[in-house]
Amino acid sequence: MPRILELPASEIVRKVKVQEISVEEYISECFERIRTADPKIHAFLTLTEDYALMRAREIDSRIRRGEKVGSLAGVAVAVKDNICTMGVRTTCASKMLESFIPIYDATVIERLKAQDAVIVGKTNMDEFAMGSSTEQSAFGPTLNPYDLERVPGGSSGGSAASVASFEATVSLGSDTGGSVRCPASFCGVVGLKPTYGLVSRYGLIAFANSLEQISPIGRTVADVATVMDCISGHDSRDSTSVNTGPTSLRSHLIEDVSGIRLGVPKELFGEGTEEAVSKGVWNAINRLIGLGATCEEVSLHSLKYALASYYIIAMSEASSNLARYDGLRYGFRLEDDDCDWSEAYSRNRREGFGPEVKRRIMLGTYALSAGYYNQYYLRAQRVRTLIRQELSRVFKNFDLLASPTMPILPYRLGEKLRDPLEMYMCDVDTVTANLAGIPAVSIPCSSHQGLPIGVQFMAPPFREDLLIRVSYTLEKNLELDLKPAV
Ligand code: GLN
Repeated sequence: MPRILELPASEIVRKVKVQEISVEEYISECFERIRTADPKIHAFLTLTEDYALMRAREIDSRIRRGEKVGSLAGVAVAVKDNICTMGVRTTCASKMLESFIPIYDATVIERLKAQDAVIVGKTNMDEFAMGSSTEQSAFGPTLNPYDLERVPGGSSGGSAASVASFEATVSLGSDTGGSVRCPASFCGVVGLKPTYGLVSRYGLIAFANSLEQISPIGRTVADVATVMDCISGHDSRDSTSVNTGPTSLRSHLIEDVSGIRLGVPKELFGEGTEEAVSKGVWNAINRLIGLGATCEEVSLHSLKYALASYYIIAMSEASSNLARYDGLRYGFRLEDDDCDWSEAYSRNRREGFGPEVKRRIMLGTYALSAGYYNQYYLRAQRVRTLIRQELSRVFKNFDLLASPTMPILPYRLGEKLRDPLEMYMCDVDTVTANLAGIPAVSIPCSSHQGLPIGVQFMAPPFREDLLIRVSYTLEKNLELDLKPAV
């Protein structure tokens, strides 16, 4: 594989600016790589080769003319297929949106383009981002680049796998309950879920609005910081967007953790946690202690109810969001719909949605229905408040909370498909950050039998700077020997 594909984003930008390489050369190499690796891992649903090469030539000629180019000049970005891209099919990995071509760009896409990033394609995911393994895509699963018999995690599995296998330099996913951190952990890459409201959701196809954020994935902490600095900041088209400018996380790539107080919540090392995972995560924590951080175990009682509360809220919001797909206004439509409208709705939805999506619409509708609303939805919201309160108390004594990202190693395809609850349980360590709206990162910290293990750090709202500093220090001080198999 050509070395250029292994370089971090900042190096690519530097090299293309001094004309050491052309964007066209590098982007062509990316597509060469995609042609060899993607038949094995299936990270992409749509490739945008012609567009990417055209953009590449255009950026090259601006550089040759001595014009100014953006902070991501030439960098190949893969984008999860639930983020709208103008003129490029955006399917949510669902038959329902199989032929949907947005007429506008999501804000994050506009911002990437404004900094001269090059979008190489749209990545596979669990249908409507519902899942943790990317097996529940209507177009077939993505496979883990470290072991083709195992899942890459999800729901942003394609985004993580494409970066892990050097098909793209960075990618965007979305994280509603862990969908960026989970595949980052399983694929040995870095994924950062920002504070709620820091990155615009305009153009993100909604699953559960109050929980989700578009989130960057990269092979290094620096790459993730670079993408965040490009996509973050206020957007008047998203009413939940906070009124701040873009982050400057690149200025926090500092190798120093002295005095950082780490809390380790017992509840996030629960009974289902595999020993190899626990060992790997403690190894990373101890490393940080050796570098000057302090650490203390804590108990956060409300976290016991986080998973149940997350699933009730996420499903309730999903049932409402997905009501718009009836096949009449848009979405999948059966040809022979010569029947009354309610029959047509049902038939289109029956055909267009996969089983997990249907399950969630039904459970969510149930949780919101009269008579059950107080018992389920309202109660889940109360738990959410308790979690937020408990976290804001604990952050008075600690700078960050450390835990496994996933309690288990990447598992074999099909292993958790039989029982949806088993799949849901895997999200036990990630959902808390979404319920509380706080930032969280997953970075590779160890491996077991060639499979990557991720450590998760959570920070108080808007303290992405701390996450970046600690992850960067850890990255510089762990000798990881991770090599994908593709
Ligand atoms: N695995 C979680 C779920 O299925 C999270 C999904 C997500 O973050 N999009 O809901």
